[in-house]
Amino acid sequence: MILSWYRQNANDFGLVQATRLLARVVWRRACVNLSNALFRSRVECPCCGWRGNRFLDYIEMAACPRCDSHSRHRALFLWLQRSYRIDTKTGTALLFAPETALAPLWQTARDLQTCRIDVESRRAVEVLADIMHLPFSSDVATLIWCHHVLEQVSDDRLALRELHRVLMRDTGQLIVSAGQSGHSSTREFGRSEKALSGNRRSYGTDFNARLNEAGFAVQQLNYNLSADERRRYSVMDEPFYLCVKN
Ligand SMILES: [Zn+2]
Repeated sequence: MILSWYRQNANDFGLVQATRLLARVVWRRACVNLSNALFRSRVECPCCGWRGNRFLDYIEMAACPRCDSHSRHRALFLWLQRSYRIDTKTGTALLFAPETALAPLWQTARDLQTCRIDVESRRAVEVLADIMHLPFSSDVATLIWCHHVLEQVSDDRLALRELHRVLMRDTGQLIVSAGQSGHSSTREFGRSEKALSGNRRSYGTDFNARLNEAGFAVQQLNYNLSADERRRYSVMDEPFYLCVKN
């Protein structure tokens, strides 16, 4: 993983910058490994069960050394498991850019047929498809899972209309989040920003208005975690939404 990350950085930012970043990563990783070897466990990853003193903090904040879950993955894992009770769900779920750390949890939903979708073959997916032009009939999905995808899509309004089309009327649920700042309005970059993970925009607090515009009724959710759990799993609150078709 580190090698492909280094190659990508060398490609995006040049060899000098990539090598500087790599040196920082190696150093940070050595420090974290030492802490985990010497000091008592304080944190825990619910996705894979790893426990230790510190998560890795060199590429993304607080990555699990075993399964590479990040803060958001661990929070969503706990919410899916405890609040949403994913193991009780039935029907068809479309999972966009499926998170590796959540894979074991989807397997607990034995009556839910999942379809993993991405625009590129880097992840293990069943369907290679562009979210703006989906190869599915209308009203087929009981659940659509789509996190941190829309900020990278060239026409997010078109993507949202596609999600609205394929979601089952009345009972279907879209659970969605995207990179949001505290600004009131969405900032469009006009291109894919390499330094911002390829994002084309940064949503503001008007993100749910954009969901409404596509025809969804929107309810903001929260992870339902105590302060102690947020520390133990090293998660931060981040808005995410449950949408149904109007
Ligand atoms: Zn883990």
